[in-house]
Amino acid sequence: MRKAYVRSFGCQLNVSDGEKIKGLLKKMGYSFTEDENEADLIILNTCAVRESAEDRVFGIVGSMKKLKERKPSLIIGIAGCMTAQEHIAEKIKKSYPQVDLVLGTSAINALPELLLDCLKGAGFAADISEYDDFSAAVEQVRDSSFKASVPIMFGCNNFCTYCIVPYVRGRERSRNAQDIISEVKELVRSGYKEIMLLGQNVNSYGKDISGGMSFPQLLRELDKIEGDFVIRFMSSHPKDASHELIDTIFECDKVANHLHLPVQSGSSDVLRRMNRNYTAGKYLDIVDYIYSKDPDFSLTTDLIVGFPDESDEDFEATLDIIKRVKYDNIYSFIYSKRSGTKAAEMPDPISDEVKGQRMRRLLEVQREISTEHYKRFIGRTLRVLVDDRAKKKPGFLTGKSNEFIIVEFEGDASLIGKFVDVEITGAMNWAVTGRLKTP
Ligand code: SF4
Repeated sequence: MRKAYVRSFGCQLNVSDGEKIKGLLKKMGYSFTEDENEADLIILNTCAVRESAEDRVFGIVGSMKKLKERKPSLIIGIAGCMTAQEHIAEKIKKSYPQVDLVLGTSAINALPELLLDCLKGAGFAADISEYDDFSAAVEQVRDSSFKASVPIMFGCNNFCTYCIVPYVRGRERSRNAQDIISEVKELVRSGYKEIMLLGQNVNSYGKDISGGMSFPQLLRELDKIEGDFVIRFMSSHPKDASHELIDTIFECDKVANHLHLPVQSGSSDVLRRMNRNYTAGKYLDIVDYIYSKDPDFSLTTDLIVGFPDESDEDFEATLDIIKRVKYDNIYSFIYSKRSGTKAAEMPDPISDEVKGQRMRRLLEVQREISTEHYKRFIGRTLRVLVDDRAKKKPGFLTGKSNEFIIVEFEGDASLIGKFVDVEITGAMNWAVTGRLKTP
């Protein structure tokens, strides 16, 4: 049996594509290995969000020349967002003769055909066409036996000025609602406990299909599926986060009590230059609506520090918004220039040193917020999906509560992949700790 080594970089959507690639390879008779040295086929499923990620992939591809010399029958393929940029696909073809095939993000279903051509010795094969065939039922080889990602749409229409995604993943295309519902039913039937719905902006799901279901409608349909599971979703663009969406989260038992709502900056001026299409005030209106329904509701966010020309006042506005909203967690990044985007052409006089200082300050403030805010869970019982053994803490397990809070507690590894109730007894700045109530 031929062995394949498939490595995915970047976001959950790309990881999901990697699982689909594995599904196609499994159908062709491949088994999988974690060791590239014993592989007959290597596929690097790449990410283009940061230029440093691209450089890393080129470094890895360069180092694979030796593998190919040792084993000339080895097939090396590059898939993912990097290949959607024509100049990159050209560069791979010209400068990396060890690469046999290039596969675009919308051409995954073409993999078997390209691979067969390579196996027949037809030479370099590439397909970076934009197919819209999402319905083809490919059984994914999933990395987890209890957590599954389900892409509900592809592409993005938003053109945030710092982001390359709309250029490499194309415009928004929603999957057929019935296909999604059937897939989730099958996953639940197979024992999956967490279903993560994925899209660059799930809130605009269905808008490209005439008479199609909206995202809140889809959530309500998925909520009706019988079984013990939790529904999560990401990402949710604030400009499209409607009251209907929030009402739906509260109405649906299986939809998690958590919303990841990327704010990116607390300054309306920076948000305008980012082309985010909302102001800090509009964002806070959504937060106020959520807290009017449940003041303890769990929110997380993404933040960019040091966007071109971010002033001290702009940065202070970001600190103000995290203090006001009290996120349970933030995912923050120092702005890094991405060529091909509008922001890459903006003057950026802020030094790396200042950006670093701002980042440290942001994390310090968030640590204080998290430690204090997590205390609201002490004395409460949280329902937790157990993920794994806790690192460096023998006998302890770690999992995520419905609210997307990391929970650590003592327990047996046989609980991994199951829901348990944990009484919360302590709070740290990144997690809460507790006592197992029911196995
Ligand atoms: S919403 Fe903005 S940040 Fe997100 S993928 Fe689309 S363009 Fe990129």
